Amino acid sequence: TKFSDLGLAEPIQRALAAKGYDVPTPIQVQAIPSLLQGRDLCGIAQTGTGKTAAFALPSLHYLSDNLKHRPPGGCRMLILSPTRELASQIAQSFVDYGKFLRLTVATVFGGVPIGKQIRQLSGGVDILVATPGRLLDLIDQRALSLKHVEIFVLDEADQMLDLGFIHALKRIDTMLPKKRQSLFFSATMPKAIAELGDRFLTDPIKVSV
Ligand code: AMP
Repeated sequence: TKFSDLGLAEPIQRALAAKGYDVPTPIQVQAIPSLLQGRDLCGIAQTGTGKTAAFALPSLHYLSDNLKHRPPGGCRMLILSPTRELASQIAQSFVDYGKFLRLTVATVFGGVPIGKQIRQLSGGVDILVATPGRLLDLIDQRALSLKHVEIFVLDEADQMLDLGFIHALKRIDTMLPKKRQSLFFSATMPKAIAELGDRFLTDPIKVSV
């Protein structure tokens, strides 16, 4: 399989060529066609497998193919990451793969002043990458609403639980629209994590690499 076989928009294919990617990785081959059809996905995958592009590429395709106004104080796509480092890497991937599209990407995490993040969100963003604690702070301060989220990604679910984010995730779940696409990734899938996944997912395709 080549990237050109996957039906991704031309500006995305151009960004991949600019990065020097020739062929999709196994998780990308398995995930991208179903994600383009709007299916939910439960993925067992480690970092280094190309999982970020596996969810970023079809999402960028959908968002650019279905352009809408950026919801003020909201976002169209939400990606949750357990750590700031991963959040920054994910956001950079979206910027790279989306460099020929006009979509905006914002990153919010704790440990830095909140004021700039509030201002950034006030105008609305297409894609928001967040850690759970700061996300809830922003919601509690009424700087952010999740009611316009069309695509939701929970990355590194096992790390989320290890870091004690279970309560935060359950709260976030109650604020997401029912009608949305959800993607759930974890390096391991013991029972507690599979149960957390069930909360977010509807009839997901399952991918393991
Ligand atoms: P990830 O698993 O998302 O952290 O990606 C691991 C690394 O592989 C990142 O540095 C990506 O830029 C790179 N990568 C992702 N997909 C491909 C691909 N199809 N071909 C070459 N490199 C890739």
